[in-house]
Amino acid sequence: MAKIRNRIETRLVHAGEPHPLINGAVSMPIFQSSTFGITQQTNYHDLKYIRLNNTPNHAALHEKLASLESGETAIVTASGMASISTTLLALLSSGDHILAQECLYGGTHDLITKDLPDLGISYDFVDGYDKSSWKDKLKENTKVIYVETITNPLLQVADLKSIIEFAKNNGLISVIDNTFASPINFRPLEWGFDISIHSCTKYLNGHSDIVAGAVIGGFDLIEKITHKLNHLGGCLDPHACFLLHRGIKTLAVRMKYQNESALKVANYLENHQMIEQVNYPGLESHPGHGFAHELLDGFGGMLSFKITGDAETADRFIKNTILPIEAPSLGGVETLITRPATTSHAGMSVSDRQRLGISDRLIRVSIGIEATEDIIEDFYNALKAL
Ligand code: PLP
Repeated sequence: MAKIRNRIETRLVHAGEPHPLINGAVSMPIFQSSTFGITQQTNYHDLKYIRLNNTPNHAALHEKLASLESGETAIVTASGMASISTTLLALLSSGDHILAQECLYGGTHDLITKDLPDLGISYDFVDGYDKSSWKDKLKENTKVIYVETITNPLLQVADLKSIIEFAKNNGLISVIDNTFASPINFRPLEWGFDISIHSCTKYLNGHSDIVAGAVIGGFDLIEKITHKLNHLGGCLDPHACFLLHRGIKTLAVRMKYQNESALKVANYLENHQMIEQVNYPGLESHPGHGFAHELLDGFGGMLSFKITGDAETADRFIKNTILPIEAPSLGGVETLITRPATTSHAGMSVSDRQRLGISDRLIRVSIGIEATEDIIEDFYNALKAL
């Protein structure tokens, strides 16, 4: 595989591609073979077998993903949650403690608060904006600090540079879920994070047709995570590898368009009298705008907003829209709309949701690649009809 060190748009297309091309195939062929004829391997993890994540489809993707975020290497997994759970299980053991940013993706929140304690791993949450409060939560057995680049569903962008510094000063492994930003808008390892995780289900694949995850980092940590993954079995099938590989090639054109479109929609909503608050890191009114402006190359395609009224008004607004599909998930070419209290964050207690500011009338939108004017027109009509 050729090492490509061009700009990211070029690396999306060319990094990790087989060299020379396999029988001249321009598109990476699918190696749908569970096992491969024995060669020279001496180590269990090097046996060529789909569960061991080392088919040609895996190898090409690993190199492409590592190249995008300047990692030494990468591993793809069966879902974003497989990446998150496997990483945390590889880095933490019974008796350890993790610090995590409050207001994470609901699945991650539940893993940390419900599953890790069953294994003897304790946790504390930290406010990503308030660095003075972190030291108090630190324990002798704290091993990992876990954050998201842009949080779900409030789109917070924490003081990430201070998180890195805090991790380094206290010997913690820093892990960041970079799903919402994608490598186009943020490359965590270049700023000093140890591990970057993606739900590739979202922007990296971009077409709402697979679930997949990825972990990017240094050789030692990724080897440890890979060995854990090989035992837990959360491998990505070669056909899904192929779809992800194909999706990644168009990430730059999709993401840049979605960055622009979401900013326009956020501006439109912020000036509408029926919208109480818009959460979008590209807006100057957003509490994380300063950090976002310094760290990110774009503010992403996700936004959320609080509508005036109640949960029922929010549901009526969603029903009034024609263009977005009412569905959880995000990062695809179709605009999706959802009310997090009933979907992504339904597993969280009402009191936790209230404490974190996830209102019942909060609506989350994943902006697709449709014409921005059509989305704005649809929202205008849906608000007018309330
Ligand atoms: N991380 C974030 C920020 C997410 O929004 C999600 C899913 O919505 C996940 C991780 C989990 O990804 P997956 O559904 O691919 O397991």
